[in-house]
Amino acid sequence: MNSSDSHRFDPPGKVAAQGWIEVVCGSMFSGKTEELLRRIKRAHLARQTVLLFKPRVDSRYDAVKVVSHEGLNADAFPVATASAMLERAAQVPLATVIAIDEVQFFDDAIVDAAQSLAGRGLRVIAAGLDQDSRGRPFGPVPALMAVAEYVTKLHAVCARCGAPGTRSQRLVAAEGQLFVGGFADYEARCRACFVPHVDG
Ligand code: ADP
Ligand code: MG
Ligand code: ZN
Repeated sequence: MNSSDSHRFDPPGKVAAQGWIEVVCGSMFSGKTEELLRRIKRAHLARQTVLLFKPRVDSRYDAVKVVSHEGLNADAFPVATASAMLERAAQVPLATVIAIDEVQFFDDAIVDAAQSLAGRGLRVIAAGLDQDSRGRPFGPVPALMAVAEYVTKLHAVCARCGAPGTRSQRLVAAEGQLFVGGFADYEARCRACFVPHVDG
């Protein structure tokens, strides 16, 4: 046996750290942020060091906190790009969990960033919208879902009929996919009640 084989005789859990990617997706109000914060809380209970990131574009409520619609919150690093996230993560080598909220606002580089973190043995938890207000796949989320080990699709309650809400209905006129809104601007709808938003 040479030294590179020795890990095979270690008990499970001592084998080279395995990373993975978890995606938490769904419409607005489906509980993505609540679920992300729940997983972070449990990671803290397990004495893990967690870094929470959010895209800088999302300035709702608070610049350095992730806040759910129920008001739950946690401190987050706002970052403009995936590489800024990797740089920040590299400064905290003890971190074992990387959490990202509103991941749909990052560009495709977030997929390689998540893959690289997971490849280095970290747990990556990414929460975000799976569809935009036109009902189309949102930014890097479909690609993240494809490479993730675990995908959780949450449902809101359709504000019209009470069926499972899978889509985010835009209620006000606003241009572009990057519009960031809250209660007054969007409501959760099911497939039947959803009317795809058309720009212009
Ligand atoms: P997300 O991050 O997916 O937008 P949050 O975790 O911030 O969602 O908020 C989820 C909370 O939103 C629920 O616990 C509930 O109190 C509230 N809520 C408001 N409207 C709805 C709805 N139509 N369906 C489900 N929850 C809703
Ligand atoms: Mg949220
Ligand atoms: Zn409905």
